[in-house]
Amino acid sequence: MVAPRDRPSAPREVRGVKPHPLPKTVAPLPDELLSGWLSRLAAANYWNDAELLAHIEIDTRHGAALDFDVEAADAEKISIAARVDPDTVQSMTFRAMTKMEMMLTAQVPFQSCPECSRRGLSLRHWRRSWAFDCQFCGTLLVRSLAKPGDEKLPEKLIDRARCGAGLLEHAATSNRPNLLRRAMRAVTFGMSLKSVRGDPLFALQSPRPEVRLFCLAAIAAAQSRPLIKAAISSAGADGYVRIALLRAFEREPRLLAAVDHIAQQRARSTGPKTAESHN
Ligand SMILES: [Zn+2]
Repeated sequence: MVAPRDRPSAPREVRGVKPHPLPKTVAPLPDELLSGWLSRLAAANYWNDAELLAHIEIDTRHGAALDFDVEAADAEKISIAARVDPDTVQSMTFRAMTKMEMMLTAQVPFQSCPECSRRGLSLRHWRRSWAFDCQFCGTLLVRSLAKPGDEKLPEKLIDRARCGAGLLEHAATSNRPNLLRRAMRAVTFGMSLKSVRGDPLFALQSPRPEVRLFCLAAIAAAQSRPLIKAAISSAGADGYVRIALLRAFEREPRLLAAVDHIAQQRARSTGPKTAESHN
């Protein structure tokens, strides 16, 4: 009888037996996401993701299910199979985030780097609402479902949005709630100007790139004279913009009063609008 080679002949080991190390392993890259690395590991061993997970005896068919929470026992199984440290496996997930980071981290891949994706990579920072350029190769991140014929957005908007993204990152990573509140207030304004409804956190991860960019650009714009800008956007406001305004300033009635005051002054100086009455 031929001695068995150190290579699994079937995708699943006998139940109760710890998985053997895989014939081939791949080294995780800095900031690589667990599911992305598992996909590369599967490909290196000529399996698909589900076959790899079945071999390692992990009770899910999708690696993405492990990105936010991988149990210690599963991390151990993966570490044995791939010959890496269990801590390395855990470090590729989104565990131990602050509440602020969690709010600004997408559950699904809403954007990606076209260059790195082509090489089969999936990086953790792409999921952050503030991520703008790929930290690995410097390419502008694009929404994950972008089609080749999609409208090209103005460079000026992209530049402003990049600046706003940097401010959002600073607000989130410095763990200063006041900075984040200011940024989210600007996002709410950006949404109202674009007539987008819903949660500002979702607008930042919007599948519509122009909405995301406009909201990020609003963060940059709000850095200088935010009250004047708020007043301008509130002039001629419809009901929704007014609600957005109230929501943005709900904890700061003094600022809301100031915005109203500036808006009234502007209305007086620019003269009455020739609005048609429907009454
Ligand atoms: Zn890249």
